[in-house]
Amino acid sequence: MSSTPTAWLLAAACAALAGCETTGPQVNVNSAAGASEVACSVGADNPQRTVRIEAWRGFEANVAGYTTERVCQRLAEVGQGLLAQQAAVRFEVMGQVRVHADLGPADNSDMANTGAVPAHTVRLVVVDALIQCGSTNAPTGGFIRGCAPRIGQPVVFLNRAVFGDSTPEWITWAHELGHTVGLRHPDDVRPPTASQRLMTYMPLPDSTSLTASESPRYAQLGTPQPGSGSGAAVGVVPDNLPPINVAQLIPFILATGQHGVPLQQLQHLSDAELLTLRALLEPAAQIDNPALKQLSLPLRINALVPLAELGRDQAQAYVRDYLLRQTDAASLDLRRYGLWALGRGQQRHPTDATRQFLQQAGQPGFWCAAPGADTASCQALASAATKAQRSAGVKPNSPTDTPTSPTRR
Ligand SMILES: [Zn+2]
Repeated sequence: MSSTPTAWLLAAACAALAGCETTGPQVNVNSAAGASEVACSVGADNPQRTVRIEAWRGFEANVAGYTTERVCQRLAEVGQGLLAQQAAVRFEVMGQVRVHADLGPADNSDMANTGAVPAHTVRLVVVDALIQCGSTNAPTGGFIRGCAPRIGQPVVFLNRAVFGDSTPEWITWAHELGHTVGLRHPDDVRPPTASQRLMTYMPLPDSTSLTASESPRYAQLGTPQPGSGSGAAVGVVPDNLPPINVAQLIPFILATGQHGVPLQQLQHLSDAELLTLRALLEPAAQIDNPALKQLSLPLRINALVPLAELGRDQAQAYVRDYLLRQTDAASLDLRRYGLWALGRGQQRHPTDATRQFLQQAGQPGFWCAAPGADTASCQALASAATKAQRSAGVKPNSPTDTPTSPTRR
């Protein structure tokens, strides 16, 4: 019974120590630790490396669950997973998770400079959405689980977990930490050829192994790697990947991994070719193909974003219509990613119709006109449209402007 003193004590201990997670190593967290004190120390007992962690998160409600306890728990799992691969690392989380108001949705420019990182420290930044990763020449888009903005630099951006993503968080975190010590993907080809490796571009639940040359690199965590992290070509995706033709398009999207969709490989496709991605977005189309049933949210985002970001008139018209047809709460993230991509796409193929759409969509009332729409969703979508207008180079309507009468079709 929860009213007995013993049960109360157990519940309090559970909340204080481990965030009440039922799996993984148990961690002790000092929730009173100041910024220069250790809130938790997790990982290998006899480490080759003890690295300090500075943990940040966005201010959005979606990432409020990334408490110091959860970060400590996740790093304990990373430490356990690395130790099983002969990489003995201990993590000391310094102080509590710091909340920043300007972190998400993070694109390349947001990630370009978060300031200097203290010595022997890795900065982990958990954001509400991660919408670009890679070099400025060929950034990836879509659903991105994690991004080391500059290979070899001790900064990692991590997307919050979303429904339908089956890759365990600790694998994403350990993979991105690998990039900070200069590790690269063994397989930037589709389909992946090294899916058992932690550093595969497409990590799955069993992508846990490190090679004999990779494991020792983790002893460098928190130390900028020589000769890396500067210059333009800092992306995790090579700039010279081959173009994907329309027959390869759907398998290509179904094999997107840690860093989303390499848009450069698709930018030559016509609207008619891009629109074959409707097969991954339309429920009716999915019924005939068992492989496409219950497509995860990350994969649907990865199908929608190339249409929105690379498409011309026809593809953009489809995306605008699609965003208005999806009105359930489960599609909120899908619609936000679609809006951001529409905005970025205006830099390639500007259309009056999409610019007008984004201006109207920047008003919560535009979305709340749909039956059953809830206020928080309307505001989240309007906020995404406002960010999209900035990407598109359109001046967002200020709250004092007279709003244009929302026309939904
Ligand atoms: Zn990677």
